[in-house]
Amino acid sequence: MNDHTDHNHPNGKLIIAIDGPAGAGKSTIASRLARKLGYVNLESGAMYRALALKAIDQDASFDDEATLVRLAQASRIQLEPTLGGNRTLLDGRDVSSRIRERDVTEAASRVSVHPGVRAWMVARQQEMGGGGGVVMEGRDIGTKVFPDADLKIFLDADPVVREQRRMEQQKIKGAVAASVAADLRERDQRDRTRAASPLVAAEDAVVIDSTGMAEDEVLARVEELAAERLRRQIGS
Ligand code: C5P
Repeated sequence: MNDHTDHNHPNGKLIIAIDGPAGAGKSTIASRLARKLGYVNLESGAMYRALALKAIDQDASFDDEATLVRLAQASRIQLEPTLGGNRTLLDGRDVSSRIRERDVTEAASRVSVHPGVRAWMVARQQEMGGGGGVVMEGRDIGTKVFPDADLKIFLDADPVVREQRRMEQQKIKGAVAASVAADLRERDQRDRTRAASPLVAAEDAVVIDSTGMAEDEVLARVEELAAERLRRQIGS
């Protein structure tokens, strides 16, 4: 179903879902698009990362679903869009940099396989973005969080290109780069094969393969799609 009249947000405030694997360029495109439209950019991955950090800090097992759900319920995870980028707060503490470190990245991929954890996250994400005027990015936004989103993009790219982009982004080379690339492949595989909400394009998503595309080209394409959805909404 893609009928905007089902949303409770006012006209002109779309819900835009951007899903895809790591390194496809989701974060950059989502934040640039949100800025252009005057929307809020919510990175759902940062929430899984924040919970993973809490599990690390509390010495909880990444395989213990019940404990992870209890930890989530007892946590305050806030995504705060600011002019200088998005901040992530965990129980009031700014963890924006810490959650990008390698141990948290690995842990986030592992805590996110549990259906109970996902159900908690999805409910929070629906509360945060349900009013519209939002570009939310992740793995299951178009399939689970906002199945009625006004625009769904599935941003993909060749695995080798995604790995290279990640290396450039993190300015790493040599042996470290090889092991980071291996981690990325493993996380991808876990996202695509988990039983609960695996990474898959929604049936009504626009799939964009950014392999041979410049970032500006991808942005232009996504902007065009958003403008078309807005026209459709305002004209109806
Ligand atoms: O997008 P990001 O790399 O920050 O996400 C961290 C991890 O959280 C991913 O590896 C993925 O396993 C998980 N995730 C998810 N569903 C989302 C967003 C992220 O399972 N909507």
